[in-house]
Order: sequence, then C-alpha cells, then structure tokens
Amino acid sequence: MVDTVSKEKRSRIMSKIKSKNTELEISFRKNLWNKKHHYRLHYKITGKPDLVFVSKKVAVFIDSCFWHKCPLHHRQPNSNKDYWIPKIKRNEERAKEVNKTLIREGWKVVRIWEHEIKDNQEKCIKNIKHYLM
Ligand SMILES: [Zn+2]
Repeated sequence: MVDTVSKEKRSRIMSKIKSKNTELEISFRKNLWNKKHHYRLHYKITGKPDLVFVSKKVAVFIDSCFWHKCPLHHRQPNSNKDYWIPKIKRNEERAKEVNKTLIREGWKVVRIWEHEIKDNQEKCIKNIKHYLM
C-alpha cells in the first residue's frame, strides 16, 4: 500500500493517540496519591516509568493498549502499516529491554494496561500496593 498521508497529517493522527498524561492516567494518579501512595513523576531511571516509588524501588508503567499491543484491544492499523507495525514492535522490544535492565538494577517493575485502569482503578492500586509492601 502506498503511503498517502503527509508528515503533518500523520503527526496530527499520532497526537490524537496520546499515551502520556491522559485524563485517565491523571485521575488514576490522583486516586493513588489520595491513598497516600506517594510516587515520583519523571524520575530518571531506565525506561522513564510513569510512576516511581523510589524508596521501595518500584517502577510502574501504564501501557497504552494501542502503543503496547494489548492482547485484548490492540487492532492492527489498516493504513500506514509500514509505519505503525515496526513502531509498535519497537515499543514491545523496548519494554522488554527496559524490564530486564530495571530488574537487574534491583527494581520491581509493574506494568498496568490502560484498560485495567479504565475498568477498575481500585484493583490496579491493590496490585501496586502489593509491590510496595
Ligand atoms: Zn487493553
């Protein structure tokens, strides 16, 4: 298939599929903070986790169903496959590398799907809490 989308249009499409600081993520963070689970944002370790509990050495990633190929919700894009497929594959590979590196450095890694937050924030918090104990 010939790629007919201009660079500008593509970047507009991409910006619509946001993966960071979505409303959902922000509401989840607030919920977590209100429950006295005090994380750090933008803490600089491998892979730039979304939330980091420094003293407990727990790194939390909130993975977008689209960008990280969630087995329940990811649909292969119909257009621009040459662009999307390698990009998503790279995300997948990078996530694996990041997990390995962090674990080697003594971190516990928690990966939560975007849809899990959508479905049940309390369950996700419980999951994180489990690693904080
Ligand atoms: Zn999903």
